[in-house]
Amino acid sequence: MTKQFKKNVLKGIAAAPGIIISKAYLYKKDKEEIFRESVDDAELAIQNLKDALEKSKKELKKIFELAVDKMGEKRAGIFEAQLMILDDPVLLENVIKRIKTEKLNPEFVISSEISKYQDIMDASSEPYMKERSHDIEDIKNRIIRNLRKKKWKSRIDSDVLVVTDVITPADTVLFTRVNVKGYITDFGGLTSHAAIVARSLNIPAVVGLHDATSRIRDNDTLIVDGINGIVIINPDEEQLAQYKEKIKKLHQFGSELLKLRDKPSVTTDGKKIVLQANVDLEEELEYVVQNGAEGIGLVRTEQLFQVADSFPDEETQFEVYSKLAEKLYPNEITIRTFDIGGDKVLPLDIKEPNPFLGWRGIRFLLDNEDLFKTQLRALLRASSHRNIKVMFPMIGSIKEIRRSKKIIEQCKAELKDAGQHFDNDLPIGIMIEVPSAAVMAGDFAAEVDFVSIGTNDLIQYILAVDRGNENVFEQYQEFHPAIVRTLKHIITEGKKNNATVSICGEMAADILAVPLLIGLGLDSLSVSSSILPHIKKIIRSIKYSDVEQLANECLKFKVEEQIKTSIHKYYKTHFADDIQQLLKD
Ligand code: PEP
Ligand code: MG
Repeated sequence: MTKQFKKNVLKGIAAAPGIIISKAYLYKKDKEEIFRESVDDAELAIQNLKDALEKSKKELKKIFELAVDKMGEKRAGIFEAQLMILDDPVLLENVIKRIKTEKLNPEFVISSEISKYQDIMDASSEPYMKERSHDIEDIKNRIIRNLRKKKWKSRIDSDVLVVTDVITPADTVLFTRVNVKGYITDFGGLTSHAAIVARSLNIPAVVGLHDATSRIRDNDTLIVDGINGIVIINPDEEQLAQYKEKIKKLHQFGSELLKLRDKPSVTTDGKKIVLQANVDLEEELEYVVQNGAEGIGLVRTEQLFQVADSFPDEETQFEVYSKLAEKLYPNEITIRTFDIGGDKVLPLDIKEPNPFLGWRGIRFLLDNEDLFKTQLRALLRASSHRNIKVMFPMIGSIKEIRRSKKIIEQCKAELKDAGQHFDNDLPIGIMIEVPSAAVMAGDFAAEVDFVSIGTNDLIQYILAVDRGNENVFEQYQEFHPAIVRTLKHIITEGKKNNATVSICGEMAADILAVPLLIGLGLDSLSVSSSILPHIKKIIRSIKYSDVEQLANECLKFKVEEQIKTSIHKYYKTHFADDIQQLLKD
């Protein structure tokens, strides 16, 4: 899929809009080779080691508890064995002694000491022992990873463009601390969480470039065009001049858009469209308010805690949710309960053969009721200003909705007994992102106050295309007729059953999709705050009766291209040049 234009141009997937010219920083986090290095400050090295051991222990304990629950004592024993190694006083003593006397880096020492255990096991004639040696490799890597994470934070340069093979959601959170200006990755798709976080942070990103890390060197000058998915390595004079001009135009348009902040989001013929923001990181809150969002349509709580060692306790969550609710008051915020699993891996790295079809979202929460209740109690307590809504991810059956609602009732009863205040009418909603929920949208909607369409997942599940895999990017079609018709079905059925229907998937932030979505009857959109002013500008330029007609036409088409062509035609005839420059070339 990587096409080449001029020799220094790479083409990938446009993952977060904006254009930036800056220096490259090659971020190679996966080099697991361990070098023997000396350290100046042995005490600091020992402290770092202890912290990493503690963190690894915490992670493993959590995994162990969950594994016992899910896989039974026997298989969970693997993790218990790993924990025992971490607790071995002889190991710790030896490692500390060597760091002190030989002044060596902790990665090297811990690796060589643990390898001694492995050598003994490998030498055993018992197959069982040999297998255990493999598990120990895991714990070694965990400790080293935790040691490196700590070191990495101080090592990365500020104000650079990160070039790497793949970015995890946790990486993106760490990058925010050092003011990274953009991302370029070899792997990843449009709705991978790394791309979503890049959009939240308002930094351009191009993903799925295949060979960026082998073609780009540290300190190369790069142009990253996140609108068209283009990266230019060491641009020539002509390319630089062309892009400087483009950046100037975008800035002009950007400042014009900010003037819309307090203007209503209505079509030219008076249809009101509620325009809210998606929030992935606490750091984004300022943008949300600045960009004039009418509340938050999706708080991805799992992202807020991405860097935490384990699940945050009730008090910590209560503080975060209260802060969000206060900041946005009187506007509403929609808090989605933890959507763990899929590509949203938390420290609990339990391995599953098909994580996207596995223990994810509501399934995980209902199997871990204590964790679920902790979150629900925290958000109920934060709801006393009556501007919080709760939303459940990955709902696939009515049973899941009813069980979740019952658990909310239990939480309310507990809080009442404890004399705590909360909103007794807290609105309850679900994400529609699993095909079963889409098919039964009417029945599901009848059980709740609102539904929100999560197209990122819905598209991947309806079309059977991995949302994060750049190899099948062409097949991940937002405008596939099956998707457009499914959206229509959900909207009609949801409204019929008196539920509010909104959309919080990335499709709502796609400039090309907005007229179609409004025409299909959606009257509430939630998008990354960085793109919100652009979407408002489009809404304010749309005539509802025109896009209704456009949507009806699109519902009849049988291939994606016809739908896209039809919307492009609509843009050409109805919009000025400044908006058209936001569409991909
Ligand atoms: C979605 O699936 O569209 C969605 C908004 O949820 P997430 O991207 O967090 O899976
Ligand atoms: Mg989803």
